[in-house]
Amino acid sequence: PGQDFWEAHVRLWRGGLRRHRLLWISVGVLVREYATLSNLDKKYFGFPGEILMRMLKLVILPLIVSSMITGVAALDSEVSGKIGLRAVIYYFSTTIIAVILGIILVMTIKPGISQTTEHIDRTGITPNDTTVDTLLDLIRNMFPENLVQACFQQVIVVNITKDYKIVGSYSDGINVLGIIVFCVAFGLVVGKMGEKGRILLEFFDALNEATMRLVQLIMWYMPVGILFLIAAKIIEVEDWEIFRKMGLYMVTVLSGLAIHATVSLPLLFFIIVRKNPYTFTLGMAQALVTALMISSSSATLPVTFQCAEENNNIDKRITRFVLPVGATINMDGTALYEAVAAIFIAQLNDYSLDVGQIVTISITATVASIGAAGVPNAGLVTMVIVLTAVGLPANDVTLIVAVDWLLDRFRTMINVLGDAYGAAIVQKLSKRELERMDLISDVDVANPF
Ligand code: ASP
Repeated sequence: PGQDFWEAHVRLWRGGLRRHRLLWISVGVLVREYATLSNLDKKYFGFPGEILMRMLKLVILPLIVSSMITGVAALDSEVSGKIGLRAVIYYFSTTIIAVILGIILVMTIKPGISQTTEHIDRTGITPNDTTVDTLLDLIRNMFPENLVQACFQQVIVVNITKDYKIVGSYSDGINVLGIIVFCVAFGLVVGKMGEKGRILLEFFDALNEATMRLVQLIMWYMPVGILFLIAAKIIEVEDWEIFRKMGLYMVTVLSGLAIHATVSLPLLFFIIVRKNPYTFTLGMAQALVTALMISSSSATLPVTFQCAEENNNIDKRITRFVLPVGATINMDGTALYEAVAAIFIAQLNDYSLDVGQIVTISITATVASIGAAGVPNAGLVTMVIVLTAVGLPANDVTLIVAVDWLLDRFRTMINVLGDAYGAAIVQKLSKRELERMDLISDVDVANPF
């Protein structure tokens, strides 16, 4: 059968499963209510979802390497500098907007004042990070001393125990930031090598194409994986009561995220791009659902690429550059969440914050969001920076741990949306450069070969 047949088949299959999402939530609820599952059974239930996560993580490395190198090499260094600068300005300004929004909301709703949190345990974390340490680590990570090692660097993984203790352990991850920095430099150099560099470019371009085809295959499996993830989570959650206790706090974070996603970002998009922002958001739907289910912007990256390029027609020259970097450093949702959580903890402790401290919270929340890796619960760890910066007890992170599995999902979704909007906005702002490149170049730069 031809490609058309397969595409139609895949679309049908995905559409069908999407419509049955509710069914899977019900499966989760029913199994939870009527079946007595041992912990082992619960683990088995989440297995298809675990496989999805593994597959998505698997393609991150070839995707980032091939897209960054070809992306940078296809632009001349002056243009890539301009695009990079615009992207960074976008990342910063939207993160600050998110933080300010969070602060306004938490100061008005005051979720921490006269709220009962009696049963929430206050012990369990021994923080040792300071703002300076984290910043130095961030910069250190940008310059890996060994490229191979950077591909399986030890990263801290956060696990939350049943009694809401944070247990950090080391696991093999990818030093995404270091790899990005290397690929930008490598891409710039290869782009300047002319005929000699061509073979390398051809190689990475083919690698990129092949990886994207793999992503398409994974997307085929995605509905199954995601639906099992939902059902497994619903079976697993032990304490729904905590939501009532932490209700107002969660409402504050969630409404902040919702306003950022439906008002702040779309407004900016409309002012600059002059297109319907909601159609754009709709085009990103699959990436957003993925982010919601797996709470990791890095692991969502393959789907973000697919949606931005295929559904929203963003120029590959832009996505290859803006999306991987954005997934690592641009986290509007995390920044908003950290600012709200810090002030919430201050309110719980009857600790009044002066203007200077609020400014400190805004700055450290921004730094903490840049420093957070795009993996589940990362924001919870960098939260300690914000708390220590204003002299709040870092142990109090434990207060918000219990609901983090849920908030993490939503903030990751906003992190991903922010990156996608960024790509569209940077593309619009760089229209002139892109057109000029199309004119002077006798090859199609997006696809140089
Ligand atoms: N899970 C988030 C992400 O991947 C980071 C965070 O914990 O805020 O974007």
